[in-house]
Amino acid sequence: MAMNKSTSRIELIKGDITKLSVDAIVNAANSSLLGGGGVDGAIHRAGGPEILEECREIIARQGGCKTGEAVITTAGKLPSKFVIHTVGPVWNGGGEDKTEKLSNCYINSMQLAVMNGCQSIAFPNISTGVYGYPKFDAAQVAVQTVSKFLSKNDKIEKVIFVCFDEENYLFMEKELAGVGV
Ligand code: ADP
Repeated sequence: MAMNKSTSRIELIKGDITKLSVDAIVNAANSSLLGGGGVDGAIHRAGGPEILEECREIIARQGGCKTGEAVITTAGKLPSKFVIHTVGPVWNGGGEDKTEKLSNCYINSMQLAVMNGCQSIAFPNISTGVYGYPKFDAAQVAVQTVSKFLSKNDKIEKVIFVCFDEENYLFMEKELAGVGV
């Protein structure tokens, strides 16, 4: 297979990630994996109890999910095949390790997607809700990390950034224009 140009594999949309028919949607979860508000609440509400049940099994096996790491479950009633749950950093005043942790969320989610044969993956704006990561900075981390990953990996054919709010959409649009999307 010819190597796609990384940027042509990135798409930006506004909307609700639970509606997407892609191989994997990413959930901005918390480390307990037991559900919360925001996008996590929306995913569990729309996907049904099966997803939470699998999260409980993962917790029983490995005792939660650390910041920057990711786990995968099926997607219950959602149109996607899998949900990849990743735990973003809580901003809490910032610091260098926050950037690295947020970047790890994107890398580990894409790695898990590849390991499970996924060719398309959709991301919400991880950490930019209750976790308080500044949206402009988060957009930079998301775009830089994903485009770098795609330039080295040809298994993922499509990455969709799904923005629920206008502010994130505008920051992402600006950042993507910078890398040629
Ligand atoms: P975090 O705890 O990582 O900050 P949140 O769920 O509070 O997670 O917010 C992450 C982002 O998800 C926010 O930008 C929020 O607007 C967005 N979001 C909330 N609901 C949805 C949804 N249904 N689809 C896509 N994004 C969503």
